[in-house]
Amino acid sequence: MTAAISVRGLTVRLDGNLIVDGVDLDVAEGEWVTVIGPNGAGKSTALRAIGGLLPHDGEIHWHGTPIARLHRRERAKAIATVMQSPVVPPAMGVYDYVLLGRTPYIPPLGRESASDLAVVDEVLAALDLEPFAGRRLDTLSGGERQRVFLARALTQGAGILLLDEPTSALDIGHQQEVLELVDRLRAERGLTVLATMHDLSTAGEYADRMILLAGGRVVASGTPAEVLTEANLAEHYRVRVRVIDGEHGPLVVAVRGNPNATV
Ligand code: ADP
Ligand code: MG
Repeated sequence: MTAAISVRGLTVRLDGNLIVDGVDLDVAEGEWVTVIGPNGAGKSTALRAIGGLLPHDGEIHWHGTPIARLHRRERAKAIATVMQSPVVPPAMGVYDYVLLGRTPYIPPLGRESASDLAVVDEVLAALDLEPFAGRRLDTLSGGERQRVFLARALTQGAGILLLDEPTSALDIGHQQEVLELVDRLRAERGLTVLATMHDLSTAGEYADRMILLAGGRVVASGTPAEVLTEANLAEHYRVRVRVIDGEHGPLVVAVRGNPNATV
């Protein structure tokens, strides 16, 4: 089966520094793959490159088609990206911001159609954001704003969602709310999800497969149980952890002490 997204030899240099170094990954249609790794590992950079937001070397295929062959609009209809802290005009209204997701469907110099507005209404309803439609973005809480970012990405109508730490600004309750929402949308709409996440236990609960990135390279990949091992985490995060069997995957708990000591 052709992967929804297939990445080979992804390499990104920023200011002459090698930040992403030959990354290979595949995400099957409908699958949820989460990239983890210590701060500075290159997770955001890799995701931005896959989303077409950074120049890079290597090959990215979308359902077998080289993504470089897609026009910008076609690419936006295929892949929607939610960056970690999107820059938004603070005075912008929620409705107008979510409508921006329809940009690839609106002809140059044209206006949005009734069907574009219908998509916005439908997404706002699906994400329980109708009460916020008339609010300014800068009046929202972190959790509300995160749902609005997701709404903008969903109105893009893309089958692939790239999410860079979608829950890092949220408390544990709102984290779960957003992740459950993404998972529900994935089931209902057949979305494919490639995310980066910080919280390892939570990452493992939602991902079908995980990729551990360190120093710009893939150092482990597989099921959450295969990646979230005490040895992998000690080596790449320099932390002593205990991994416990949880209901939905391994639960990772940091344990005080020197990671290099033999206990
Ligand atoms: P992560 O998301 O895994 O924390 P990033 O992809 O944000 O990591 O960053 C990876 C590395 O790239 C970091 O060491 C960061 O300092 C570096 N970096 C990011 N942007 C630039 C830049 N414009 N020039 C040089 N280095 C950069
Ligand atoms: Mg990052």
